[in-house]
Amino acid sequence: MKVIVVGAGLAGLTCAKVLAESGAEVVVLEASDGVGGRVRTDEKDGFLLDRGFQVYFTAYPVSRRHLDHASLDLRTFDPGAILRRGREETVLSDPLRDPKALVPSLLSGAATFPDKLRTLKLAAASVAQGTESAGEANGGRDSSSLEYVRDRGFSEMFIHRFFRPFYGGIFLDRSLSTSSRVLRFTFKMLAAGKTTIPARGIGRIPEQLASHLPAEAVRSNSPVGALLREGETVVGVEVGGDAEEADRVVVATDAPSARRLTGAPVPEEALGQICAYYRTDRPIGGKKIMLNSEEDPFVNNAVGISNVSPLYAPQGEHLLSVVSLGGFELSDEEVFRRGVEDVSRWYPGLDLAPLAVYRVPYSQFDQPPGIHERLPGNRTGTPGLVLAGEYTEDSSINGSMLSGEKAAREVLGQ
Ligand SMILES: Cc1cc2nc3c(=O)[nH]c(=O)nc-3n(C[C@H](O)[C@H](O)[C@H](O)COP(=O)(O)OP(=O)(O)OC[C@H]3O[C@@H](n4cnc5c(N)ncnc54)[C@H](O)[C@@H]3O)c2cc1C
Repeated sequence: MKVIVVGAGLAGLTCAKVLAESGAEVVVLEASDGVGGRVRTDEKDGFLLDRGFQVYFTAYPVSRRHLDHASLDLRTFDPGAILRRGREETVLSDPLRDPKALVPSLLSGAATFPDKLRTLKLAAASVAQGTESAGEANGGRDSSSLEYVRDRGFSEMFIHRFFRPFYGGIFLDRSLSTSSRVLRFTFKMLAAGKTTIPARGIGRIPEQLASHLPAEAVRSNSPVGALLREGETVVGVEVGGDAEEADRVVVATDAPSARRLTGAPVPEEALGQICAYYRTDRPIGGKKIMLNSEEDPFVNNAVGISNVSPLYAPQGEHLLSVVSLGGFELSDEEVFRRGVEDVSRWYPGLDLAPLAVYRVPYSQFDQPPGIHERLPGNRTGTPGLVLAGEYTEDSSINGSMLSGEKAAREVLGQ
């Protein structure tokens, strides 16, 4: 059986890997110049620059089935976070795993003692969930993450200083309007495993998936213009003006491209981030994520990424990754300037030399409460056509890989 997979993001590559392992002939057609989709790493002047700040949770249940963590040489963030309000610094140690670590930060006033007990309770309840993805984490009425943490009695101060910047950085939404299923699933990932990056960049994840495929199976710079149909049935694709036939076509693109190619009812709204990189004259923040607890800040979070993996910077140099959740219309100079303004309030006198800006307006699809029940499945009503992509599960590395896995099973009739 010959299968064409359109798109070499995590969903497409996982689907292709599973199909190839089962003996199918697979061709992956990718519009851009390489594999990974939204998960890629560039190299510039000896620095490794991920295309947007992303982390990998070792507890992700689906990706563990497909990735060799040891070869990825995963480097671990320190748990907890550093909350910054101007010069004021509050270190949250490891509220999820080590209750003793709560005591120093108890003195800080960022969280009340009941907040800490509620955090532990939330972690325990989240770990007990048996689901493989946020999308599958059903269980009664869905609500926004904000409603969820308020219902559990967290103080407004803790919500504002911790949940908004922390989950704002994960959901790319400080208003916490994202489905509480995503919050609970992410909480479980944080509590059950480690938060990491591959030593040589997040792009190593798709590269490892692609390494399971025959070299000639993935064709870059091959945008698919349309699906080939015979009557109702999809029988191949148009690529570079040529027709290429297959027994099955898996459309594994981002949601907007999937809608254009197939007409499938995929989610429309997106959330984005801007990630600016600076070379700094000294390491700051250790291996913890720094969160901006101020009102309406430009910078939401930052991390000395070369503290986590020294391979992200040339020897003796330091790389700072700085994320904002808005300002897509600003020039690079303005993004850099506003990043420097915020980070300099935290670390006066720090020398920040701009390196690169990545604007990723379509980072994740928006996941308001209840959306996971309305997402399309992998199976379509069209013979010969299968869908894969984060938008059939949830917006994450794990969700996109689960979608790819399910798409392969659909093709194989399992
Ligand atoms: C900045 C950022 C931060 C994130 N942070 C995290 C995080 O910390 N943890 C986490 O788990 N997840 C995170 N995510 C989400 C995660 O990266 C995505 O959910 C996942 O990569 C989506 O994979 P995908 O295969 O569904 O889609 P994509 O990665 O979008 O892949 C689709 C592919 O299809 C190709 N394509 C499109 N149209 C065509 C066509 N016509 N012909 C051929 N090819 C085509 C595209 O070029 C692309 O390569 C983040 C994403 C971003 C961008």
